[in-house]
Amino acid sequence: MSAIDNLPPLRDVIATHELSARKSLGQNFLLDLNLTAKIARQAGDLEGSDVLEIGPGPGGLTRGLLAEGARKVLAIEKDPRCMPALAEIAEAYPNRFEVINGDALEIDPLAHLTPPIRVAANLPYNVGTELLVRWLTPKEWPPFWQSLTLMFQREVAERIVATPGNKAYGRLALLAQWRADAKIVLSLPPEAFSPPPKVHSAVVHLTALETPRFEADPKVLNLVVATAFNQRRKMLRSSLKSVSSDIEDRLIAAGIKPTERAEQVSLEEFCALAREVAKG
Ligand code: SAM
Repeated sequence: MSAIDNLPPLRDVIATHELSARKSLGQNFLLDLNLTAKIARQAGDLEGSDVLEIGPGPGGLTRGLLAEGARKVLAIEKDPRCMPALAEIAEAYPNRFEVINGDALEIDPLAHLTPPIRVAANLPYNVGTELLVRWLTPKEWPPFWQSLTLMFQREVAERIVATPGNKAYGRLALLAQWRADAKIVLSLPPEAFSPPPKVHSAVVHLTALETPRFEADPKVLNLVVATAFNQRRKMLRSSLKSVSSDIEDRLIAAGIKPTERAEQVSLEEFCALAREVAKG
């Protein structure tokens, strides 16, 4: 029996179901259920929410989310070896836990969830960043989710919350901060995981804003930001030449010095520039 529920400790679950960690699936498991419950508490009011969890593995974070009162957890896990361990959790929490065996990049889980929806995950780095970008760039805003509570390697977490002048500042920060509040809520050393990864990790909590912080067309803003940071060391009048033939005038109209570099420009200024560029 574990500290947070009547299920066996995670080490026993992993041994019973022979869940040796696979590098190809980015498997670094959290084994301390007090820690997974602490991460779950960062996800906000779970009692009134359905939670989408990506990559539950042997179920450490899943159990944290359920023990902290999530109305329902829907988990998507790619590794079929984890299904028997996850079935035991479903039995312990009748009608509150559902698992889909598949690739989160290919499955649309929305039919299985009722708003309000929160997302929580401890995912491999590449899948996590790709899903984050998708969740931040839906066709409609506000998105399907109220909040995202996601584990990243610390360097990626720092890119999400970075501000101008910081070397981590770039497209990911602007994408995240334009329509969400983003903050690092927990830092974890490699030893928190089994096996320990080479890098430190951090949990980022993002809350969706009802409306974007500053007005801008998403496509134009994305084009301007992506182009500017593609050549981040160049002055904007040169890096943004392809965006508009009179980019220098548009930069000035947006209140930005044409000699400025992308990493010095604030979100508000990028939005002003996107509005100038959208004038056609
Ligand atoms: N959440 C568990 C924990 O905290 O102990 C496991 C975390 S482990 C870092 C990442 C999990 O994501 C693994 O169980 C892995 O099999 C799963 N995974 C990897 N790629 C995936 C994908 N594309 N879709 C769904 N799950 C995936």
